[in-house]
Amino acid sequence: MRTALVAGNWKMNGDSAFISELIKELKVSTKSSDAEVLVCPPFVYLSEVKQALSGSAIKLGAQNVSQNNNGAFTGEISLPMLNDLDCEYVILGHSERRSLYAETDELVAEKFIATEKAGLKPILCVGETLEERESDQTLEVVGRQLKTVINAAGIEKFVNAVVAYEPVWAIGTGKTATPEQAQDVHAAIRAMVAEYDADTAAKLRVLYGGSVNAGNAAELFANEDVDGGLVGGASLKANDFTAICQAAGAQ
Ligand code: PEP
Repeated sequence: MRTALVAGNWKMNGDSAFISELIKELKVSTKSSDAEVLVCPPFVYLSEVKQALSGSAIKLGAQNVSQNNNGAFTGEISLPMLNDLDCEYVILGHSERRSLYAETDELVAEKFIATEKAGLKPILCVGETLEERESDQTLEVVGRQLKTVINAAGIEKFVNAVVAYEPVWAIGTGKTATPEQAQDVHAAIRAMVAEYDADTAAKLRVLYGGSVNAGNAAELFANEDVDGGLVGGASLKANDFTAICQAAGAQ
């Protein structure tokens, strides 16, 4: 039995007043959800959100991290710093990091290894562009992104990891994958992991991300291999994010 996880990726949004209000609402509204609930604020608000979450079951995560622990890396944030703030999860290889900041599969693998070693749980994002889907390359791309990390880290390092399938064409576009499209890729991801270790594959949570909202969450999460969601835009709206968490918890 896999516990559903709903992760809110706030990206570069919000300010102190907005975040304080959002957390105040989510602490109450998500209390009854059976899903594990996670918020990933911008780095500068992690400390504030940690304090605001006090007494709540909502977990704290980061949107990215450096593969280096310290040193002359201007503008970077390290895993020991995230550990100081009790961050439990780190989103890695988000398509915006891959496309806007040139993160390669190999760099994502380095970050994955460092994250696992530091005791945090990686949320490894994989997904194809529209062009790749239309030329029937979805599983090839997702397989390459996933297997580069498994081959570098070792499948045993996936015990606490989460994979997020995020078709790039669905992120922030309002175009969601159909439940069938999501299930097909999620099942394929699980099968790829099972090639390395069946038990890890059975226990691995595979989240769907890409324009999840209050209206489509239930039918996406109803699929056998969809274990929750990575949510961008809708995670900034307390009512919508709460509805998504309730939908995940009800599966
Ligand atoms: C994301 O940022 O990972 C994401 C899925 O965004 P959105 O829900 O806005 O499509």
